[in-house]
Amino acid sequence: MAGLVERAVSGDARAVARLVSLVEDGSPQLRAIMRATAPLAGRARVLGLTGAPGVGKSTTTSALVGTYRRQGRRVGVLAVDPSSPFTGGALLGDRVRMQDHATDHDVFIRSMASRGHLGGLASATSQALRVLDAAGYEVILVETVGVGQAEVAIASLADSTLVLVAPGMGDAIQAAKAGILEVGDVFAVNKADRDSAQQTVRDLRNMIALADRDTRDWKPPIVATVATTGEGIDELAGQLDAHAAWLERSGELARRRLARATSEVTAIALGVLRARMGGLPGDAGLDRLARRVADGELDPYSAADDLVASVSPRASGSGAPGSRASTSGASASGTPAPGA
Ligand code: GDP
Repeated sequence: MAGLVERAVSGDARAVARLVSLVEDGSPQLRAIMRATAPLAGRARVLGLTGAPGVGKSTTTSALVGTYRRQGRRVGVLAVDPSSPFTGGALLGDRVRMQDHATDHDVFIRSMASRGHLGGLASATSQALRVLDAAGYEVILVETVGVGQAEVAIASLADSTLVLVAPGMGDAIQAAKAGILEVGDVFAVNKADRDSAQQTVRDLRNMIALADRDTRDWKPPIVATVATTGEGIDELAGQLDAHAAWLERSGELARRRLARATSEVTAIALGVLRARMGGLPGDAGLDRLARRVADGELDPYSAADDLVASVSPRASGSGAPGSRASTSGASASGTPAPGA
């Protein structure tokens, strides 16, 4: 494990890919991987990219990757589809139009799934982000496929969220429904080669002004882009840089990262508890409690208290399922920290 992390950190893309697979699978080695990568993470800039299917996310991602590569930055791309957590892999991979960067060793592209990950896809994604971060990818783009609540949740794993809409009101209204106008830090009206693009920019500006946004001292810029030709992409990257600078300056970056760590820990803890509850045998088992509630013998709150009480004591014990902590601790601490 230490060797794998070491190779990933030294720029071996295959080692990175292997680590991301272990994350997706909720591998027993995940704890060791997280221990080894934690001291190396926190340097990457994470950009979330979301918008309705067909709006031009993949094309924009590819164009942004081009801009960042010209700036000499190593770039990671994670494509995430919350609507089909079990497919992922090659299917989504095909969707990502990244042929331009396929042979570039400083670009890592991957579709995310969450086969068996305790904390679900959002948690798997944030752990994959840690792996890429530790491996030295300086900018990481997280692209989601649609504009539902799940996509908003994934996008909010990022430091900055870029929302794409296309001319025509449909997209903007969909974005409003999904709550995306509230979370967008930078907006792009892509397909600006279409006639109604300027009208869409105006509509979007009005809708953002009306949206119930958290951080009013950042006014989200709207950039018109034509991702297929690259028009507006450098300006878009510039606005994203400006947002990154604002995040640092305002203290918002630290606030966002703390909020993210909180949900990361909560998701894993809930996943562990859920796994244990399902696995409890005999008298304390969930089935037995549920039956008593169904039969009117026990109220659901008391049953839940019983369940929690029967699960909690094991949390401090050494028998955490899938933790193999005793063998992995040594390798984690033996990992060198490059650049330290
Ligand atoms: P995604 O589903 O949001 O990832 O969208 P894609 O990046 O796959 O783009 C969907 C289609 O729109 C593709 O055929 C792209 O070539 C096309 N497209 C993307 N950006 C532009 C643009 O700025 N102008 C025009 N006319 N077409 C675009």
